[in-house]
Amino acid sequence: MTFSDLGLRAELLRAIEAQGYTTPTPIQRQAIPAVLTGGDLLASAQTGTGKTAGFTLPMLQRLADGRRPGKRQVRALVLTPTRELAAQVGESVTDYGRHLTLRSHVIFGGVGQQPQVDAIRPGLDILVATPGRLLDLHQQGHVDLSAVEILVLDEADRMLDMGFIHDIKKVLRLLPEQRQNLLFSATFSDEIQALAGRLLDDPAMIEVARRNTTAETVDQAIYRVDRDKKRDLLAHLITEHRWYQVLVFTRTKHGANRLAEQLSKQDIPAMAIHGNKSQSARTRALAAFKDGSLQVLVATDIAARGLDISELPHVVNFELPNVAEDYVHRIGRTGRAGSEGQAVSLVCVDEHGLLKGIERLIKRDLEKRIEPGFEPDPDARPEPIENGRRSGGRGRPAGQGRGQPRGDQAARRQGDGQRRDGGDTADRAPRRRRRRSRARQA
Ligand code: AMP
Repeated sequence: MTFSDLGLRAELLRAIEAQGYTTPTPIQRQAIPAVLTGGDLLASAQTGTGKTAGFTLPMLQRLADGRRPGKRQVRALVLTPTRELAAQVGESVTDYGRHLTLRSHVIFGGVGQQPQVDAIRPGLDILVATPGRLLDLHQQGHVDLSAVEILVLDEADRMLDMGFIHDIKKVLRLLPEQRQNLLFSATFSDEIQALAGRLLDDPAMIEVARRNTTAETVDQAIYRVDRDKKRDLLAHLITEHRWYQVLVFTRTKHGANRLAEQLSKQDIPAMAIHGNKSQSARTRALAAFKDGSLQVLVATDIAARGLDISELPHVVNFELPNVAEDYVHRIGRTGRAGSEGQAVSLVCVDEHGLLKGIERLIKRDLEKRIEPGFEPDPDARPEPIENGRRSGGRGRPAGQGRGQPRGDQAARRQGDGQRRDGGDTADRAPRRRRRRSRARQA
């Protein structure tokens, strides 16, 4: 099957050709005709499946077909959880729409708002946004959503995880009743099903990657190692095996910074990417990583989510995630589109419970390895996991599913993207207290 078999117009086919795509991916084969009918869609698809083009191409076609002369109004709204994802979707809209006369812009928090206000003032057809900044700009009268015909919720599961449900509901109230809704989510939790039930009218359903299964093409292994030997083991593995493009996950922002610094000192070029970094620092790090000049990118879960880094050869879990599903998201970065990938996890005695939780979720035992020279101490005693999402005795203990400290979600919702990193509960606590005391004063 080719893209022209899907009924896409010539301008879009030219743009697809320029991207070098010849064959639509499974999600594109299903989503493009479904969206072109104008009906609602519920799609289960992870990053790396080609889902962005799956909704962007038919959305552009519908907008181009229905374009009328006169002042431009926002006719398609794409909501994403993070600014990186918003920027990537925005890029796809620009790339695929380059031979059409539609206008689009991306807005997200964490950067100055005036350039965004200036860009949207003359009128737009497509707005890609994170929910917080969108609501801010709407409240100030800079955005009119009364003509939206197509709403896309991209990575809806992650938006709910990040506490955006109230913001999403607020946005929905600003939209016309009559519209097309497209909901993309990597997982189908009860919350997603509830949202889908409220939002979607008789949707077409597409599922391309089964929930919580890990890519067959990813070679996964566990290295058992002592807590304080992880850094040396990582440097050793990278050097020994000549890994050249390695995405490393840490649990916290501090941990990401520390590890990047330490690797750099050992002559392994590394940078950290997380919510406390400026947008330009994140963009720079990502660009260097993509073009191969940066060997190691150290990231927290939320920062890495939605990054368009395809076919990564190596993903390393420097620490296991507290939430088992995040393991699936993390290793989904590698072995994409049929290419071989390798995902290794450095696991110390503190993390055995987390490892069991992951193996239960993915329904398989992971291969355990011990690297000569890094044999773990058989008498090592587990210690509580430092700085995890459940530190301070709140929420459920590690390895027991998704419980998060309550204030966490509220904290994430504030500031749109700036403070949305996983982990570092300790980091956020003072801000929560400040906000609460401000709320009391108000
Ligand atoms: P996504 O899942 O939307 O994040 O896309 C993952 C990657 O696949 C992106 O780098 C796209 O540029 C690429 N991609 C999307 N569609 C195709 C296609 N039909 N053929 C080859 N690559 C594609």
